[in-house]
Parts: sequence; C-alpha cells; structure tokens
Amino acid sequence: MLWPMTSDSTSSQTAAVVMSAHARASADPDARAAVATDRSGYVPPSLPDAVVRCETVDDVVEAVRLAHTHGIPLVPRGAGTGLAAGASAHAGQVVIDVSRMNRILSIDPVEMIAVVEPGVLNAEVNAAAGEHGLFYAPDPASTAICSIGGNVATNAGGMWCAKYGVTRESVLGLRVVLADGRVLRTGRTTIKGVTGYDLNALFIGSEGTLGIVVEATLRLRPRPVRTETLAAYFADVEAAGRAASAITAARIQPSILELMDGPTLDAVDRAEGTRHRELGAAFLLAQTDGYGAHLELDEIARAIEPFATTVRRAADDDEAAALVKARRDAIPSLEKLGRVSIGDIAVPRNRLAEAFAGLEEISQRTGVRIFSIAHAADGNLHPMIVVDPEESITEGPAKVALGEMFHLAQRLGGTLTGEHGVGLLKREWVVEELGGTSIELQSAIKAALDPTGILNPGKAL
Ligand SMILES: Cc1cc2nc3c(=O)[nH]c(=O)nc-3n(C[C@H](O)[C@H](O)[C@H](O)COP(=O)(O)OP(=O)(O)OC[C@H]3O[C@@H](n4cnc5c(N)ncnc54)[C@H](O)[C@@H]3O)c2cc1C
Repeated sequence: MLWPMTSDSTSSQTAAVVMSAHARASADPDARAAVATDRSGYVPPSLPDAVVRCETVDDVVEAVRLAHTHGIPLVPRGAGTGLAAGASAHAGQVVIDVSRMNRILSIDPVEMIAVVEPGVLNAEVNAAAGEHGLFYAPDPASTAICSIGGNVATNAGGMWCAKYGVTRESVLGLRVVLADGRVLRTGRTTIKGVTGYDLNALFIGSEGTLGIVVEATLRLRPRPVRTETLAAYFADVEAAGRAASAITAARIQPSILELMDGPTLDAVDRAEGTRHRELGAAFLLAQTDGYGAHLELDEIARAIEPFATTVRRAADDDEAAALVKARRDAIPSLEKLGRVSIGDIAVPRNRLAEAFAGLEEISQRTGVRIFSIAHAADGNLHPMIVVDPEESITEGPAKVALGEMFHLAQRLGGTLTGEHGVGLLKREWVVEELGGTSIELQSAIKAALDPTGILNPGKAL
C-alpha cells in the first residue's frame, strides 16, 4: 500500500512524543503503517503518530491515562480484519493495539464459560472449547483471523448466528478500560442477571468509541449431537430468496441458512474447481442440528421444494463440509477477481427476494459489478462490489452503488449494517437511519463516557 509523503512529516508528532513515555510505544514508520487501516480497502490520508502494543491491562490503562491527560485521540485495534475502516487511524492519532493480549484465561466446562483476553482469535476460542465438547457460537467467516475484542466491538455475526444469535447473545461480561483510565466490569458470570442498566450490551457493538475491551467472559454451548445439511439450487436468486423466507415463515430453526447468487457461484467454481453453477443460478445451504436435526431438515426440504430446481441432501459429514466450504470460499474467490468492497445491509426476512432484485437493478443502473451472498435466516445480505485493482472502492461509482444499497435497505424497512459496523465508511447514512432524537441521545451517552472525545473519534456515530 502506498502512503502519501505527508504521513512521515513532523507536522503532527505531539502524540508520538507524549506516548514515547509508554514502554510499549513505537513511532517506527513500518509499525505505524502496519496498523493504519483494516480490510475494508480504505486508505487513510496519513499514518498514525504511534502505536502502543499493549500486553497487559496495566499497559492499556497507562496508555489511556497518558492520552486522557494530553487529549490524544486513540484508535483501539484488534486483528485489523474490520470491513468498515473502524480501526483506521491517521496523523494526530495513536493506535492501541491489543492483539498481543491473546491468552485464554480460563474455561469452565461445567458452567460452559470461557474468560479470554481481547486479542485471542475467534477460532482459538472454538478450538479450546472443542476440547471440552463445547463451542463458541458467533463464527464470522473471518474466524481464523479476527479477535474476540474486535468481535465484541462490532457485535460480529456469522453462519451459526441463524440459531444461536450474534456476539451479544454470547458475551456474559466484559472488563473495559474507560476513557479516563478507570477499569469497569460489566455484566456477570451467571447466565441470568438484571441488576442495573445493561452496560454490557452498551459496549457490545460500540466500535471502540466508549471504552477498550481488555477481557471478555463468553458463553459456550454444547456441541450438537448431530447435524444434517442440504444444498438447494434455483433458477434465479429471487427464487432462492423466496425459499429462504418460506423457511422462516414455516417457523423452522436452521442452525445455518446461507445464500449465494449465480455470479458468486461462478467465481467459487472457477477458484475451487467445483461445479455448483451447473446445478442452478443460486444456492441455498441449510443445516440443522440437535437430536431432531433430520426431522427439521425434512421440514426445510418441504418448505423450499416449490421454489427449487434441485435439492441435494448431504450423504455424510464430508459432503456437508464441502457444501459449507463452498460458502466460506465465496469471499476469497471474489478477491481473485479484483478489489472487493463487502456490503452488509439487513432487511426483514420476508423481503429477501425484493432485496436481491433491487441489488441487480442497482448493478445495472450504476454499471458496478455486485455479487451477493446472505446470512438468509437473519435477512443479512453481503452485496460485494468488485472493481478493477486500480479502481477505488471507497469513491466514485463504487461509493454511489454503496449509497444506493443503503437506500434500498431503508426502503425495505432494513438497516445499513447487519454485523460489520458503521466505522468510518458508513457514517454519512447513519443520521438518516437513526433520526435526530436517537443521535442526540447516543451523542449524550458518548459524551458521558468519553467527555474529551479521545476514543476512536469520527467512527460509528
Ligand atoms: C474475509 C472476511 C470475512 C469476514 N466475515 C465476517 C462475518 O462473517 N461476520 C462479521 O461480523 N464480520 C466479518 N468480517 C469482518 C471482521 O472480521 C469483523 O468485523 C471482526 O469482528 C473484526 O475483528 P478484529 O479483531 O479484526 O477488529 P478490528 O478490525 O481490529 O477492529 C474493528 C473495530 O473494533 C474496534 N476494536 C477492536 N478491538 C477492540 C477492543 N479490544 N476494544 C474496543 N474496541 C476494539 C476497533 O476500534 C474497530 O472499530 C470479515 C472480514 C473479512 C476480512
């Protein structure tokens, strides 16, 4: 990535000088470049002044106190896999990198609880839980590379969220460093508990603007005794959308319900040597789990039959894993075609077909290539804009198409982000969705928790 020359100028080195009092601070240009942005494709105009690579809670507290005293803006950072430029930073800002706080502190297999530091990767939690016959349900497609702190800050979702809910449903408690350096505990270690306001929920999804997560108490669940999987193919993506809505309407609870359109299937086939596209112009993956998994899958097959051209039930675990892999391969396959901007709108689940039709219309009108996948059980679509490598994905036609997507979501009664967060890139549409009263209240909450505005300024709200 190329950085403008101004990034290394001395115009804004105050923060670096102040932070040099911290043992773990670095103003080395390579270190700063490594933490300047995330996976959104956004390129900041300059580099942050410094990065503090924290290894303990005390490291974070010390950094925040220094920043609080001197009014230095901080950008919390986990693994940097975000898709909304939430962890991007520029001159005059200091990055608080917690990726080295990566220990699993304890797992209680009886209470089914894990206590972890924020830099632990999502997949590492699952691997450790698996040793006890348990799993951690929120499973972003980035599971192998994203951190629990980032998941909490974005309220991340994934495939299993169809049945088990997003990150919020699996976080019992947090330890958070506040903007003045105080350490707050939110939530609890019991499954139930309602004492006081729900500060836990307030911090989840707050995108690093209210506090820095330094520990999380996570709810684990028993690994399902069995799973059953099917793939269905359709003549077009609207039919697949109608089929997904029919499953919801039939009140069946899949543990996974994922949808891919024809162009995405093409890309997966080309990248992986598979032959899904021959079977249809859209793909719906359904998985059920638990003792009645096979019965529930029967019901799903019945619900989608009027819409599908082909329904294939996985004969064994290997076939099921291959179908799940096809969906997980979608984003890497598209990344082989050009630069990808991953959208994240959500609509009511009975309006999925209209959303797909709307996306096709936007693509035709703007001339921008849009590939679509969806966490169909949640009505959460990921329309992916793919442009040539030299083109911008945050400006020009790509940005126009992004704006059109948000308006489409709004028209259908939906939202501009289902799980990736607002970050920097979607801020201009927030007021339109939330309205003045909500913005006023949310700004007051921000001011109460971060009166000098040093935590991730310019993000989320
Ligand atoms: C290939 C790919 C697939 C993806 N699939 C999914 C998916 O299926 N579902 C999904 O939800 N997301 C997905 N994502 C997006 C991304 O992985 C998630 O948003 C993830 O939660 C970000 O975690 P991170 O550790 O990388 O956070 P970062 O990118 O480092 O930060 C994200 C935000 O969280 C804040 N933050 C990070 N750590 C902390 C902390 N300790 N305290 C306070 N604030 C903090 C940052 O300031 C920033 O605002 C995908 C990304 C990629 C690249």
